[in-house]
Amino acid sequence: IKRDSKFAEITEDHVKFFKELLGKEAAVIDGVTKDATDDIEPFNGDWMRKYRGHTKLVLKPGSTEEVSNILKYCNDNMLAVVPQGGNTGLVGGSVPVFDEIVINMSRINQIRSFDEVSGTLVVDAGAILEVVDGYLAERGNIFPLDLGAKGSCQIGGNVATNAGGLRLLRYGSLHGSVLGIEAVLPDGTIVDDLSKLRKNNTGYDLKQLFIGAEGTIGIITGVSILCPQRSKAINVAFLGLESYEKVQEAFKAAKGQLSEILSAFELMDNQSQNLVQQVTKNKRPLESAHPFYCLIETSGSNSEHDNEKLQSFLEDVMEKEIVSDGVVAENETQVRNLWGWREGIPESLGHWGGVYKYDLSIPISELYSLVEETREKITKAGLIGDTDEHPVVDVVGYGHMGDSNLHLNVATRRYDKNVEKELEPFVYEWISKRSGSISAEHGLGLAKKAYIGHSRSDTMIALMKQIKKLYDPNGIMNPYKYI
Ligand code: FAD
Repeated sequence: IKRDSKFAEITEDHVKFFKELLGKEAAVIDGVTKDATDDIEPFNGDWMRKYRGHTKLVLKPGSTEEVSNILKYCNDNMLAVVPQGGNTGLVGGSVPVFDEIVINMSRINQIRSFDEVSGTLVVDAGAILEVVDGYLAERGNIFPLDLGAKGSCQIGGNVATNAGGLRLLRYGSLHGSVLGIEAVLPDGTIVDDLSKLRKNNTGYDLKQLFIGAEGTIGIITGVSILCPQRSKAINVAFLGLESYEKVQEAFKAAKGQLSEILSAFELMDNQSQNLVQQVTKNKRPLESAHPFYCLIETSGSNSEHDNEKLQSFLEDVMEKEIVSDGVVAENETQVRNLWGWREGIPESLGHWGGVYKYDLSIPISELYSLVEETREKITKAGLIGDTDEHPVVDVVGYGHMGDSNLHLNVATRRYDKNVEKELEPFVYEWISKRSGSISAEHGLGLAKKAYIGHSRSDTMIALMKQIKKLYDPNGIMNPYKYI
């Protein structure tokens, strides 16, 4: 891609305007009038170290009004911007491609209100997920979303990517739990749709457009969201299974027998667990190795009752030889340890240098076949091995089995054109043939920009472009990305 010449280059005058507007030393990282390379670089690079932009200006507004003033000025002066939350996104959407101004939301981070009876939380977009969930925990509630990046990702980023995560099975998608949004359009208009209502059938539900838009039509500054009661009893089991057929049987049995208390069903293959072990050096939960592992979590209101249900489920699946081995966490530390084997996967896979990540929705019966076919393809091409000559460390599969969401990951020692050629468009065509989605939850960003046609028809893409034009006629919002 080439830099679009319709966008202005940042000048000293622009910088002067922003410094006066934001007034605070720390709110502007300026690489235009001075050399700020070290300070600015973290905002230019993504979590995977795969994408690197060249911004010379990072702005950290402290209020919705400041976001509005920034965007209006940028729109009037044809300055391109990229909204940035915790910068944990996995598709290169949160970093500039060229010299777009980074609008970092970390200073807008307050909890605005919480209603303990209805469970409605109103929160600034820049608040960190883990902090918000901690606040809710003290009040007996839970944020309806949880994911491995919780220590850094922000509510605004979560909503902008429509993140799915570990609690979707129980609490559903953000399209259901988000009740209202406050956002700023590129021309500075503040869209105040911070409704706290569960039911509101008064025309188009425009907030839905911001959920999953990846910062392409406006900047989310506040969110109101329904936060359920926190379950008093959490039980976790970690199971070893011999085949993907058995995994499916276990899933069906879990839904049948644990039904209303089942809150997570996560899948991990042995390859993914081997890599986590190599990095963390932790002792594996089960003595012997199995091709597949499942992590099952239940959440309910009565520990004894839930535990009983879980135990009888385990007895049943062991007796029927669906599950070969299993362990149940006996205290909170063990719950965290077992979750660590699932949540630690993304971080561990990055250990060797790079990861090709595919986040896919696949009909459940075929979910794991893609991993096997990809591994075979990479092996045949001679790209996988233990030594430095081989770019690929391993091909692994894991994910939110309960949501038919597979993460196909290829851990590599370096990003390599030959590996890319084997993977793309192979993976996307495979998905397209099965009417799956090339992005179950991470979004499209820059990484999947070219492949949207594998999951959306021409008519749908044309409609999306019309919406983009309506909200952002100058195209300053997160340009060069999927739309
Ligand atoms: P960023 O990365 O900063 O931004 C992501 C996108 O949103 C960008 O396009 C950006 O421009 C836009 N954006 C950010 N803030 C705003 C805003 N206020 N207004 C408008 N646009 C904005 N995702 C899942 O769905 N499920 C998972 O289980 C999951 N696990 C993960 C585990 C790890 C270890 C990591 C690193 C990531 C994981 N992710 C997962 C990816 C997920 O998309 C992000 O972690 C998170 O939702 C992004 O939030 P963020 O604040 O970091 O946003």
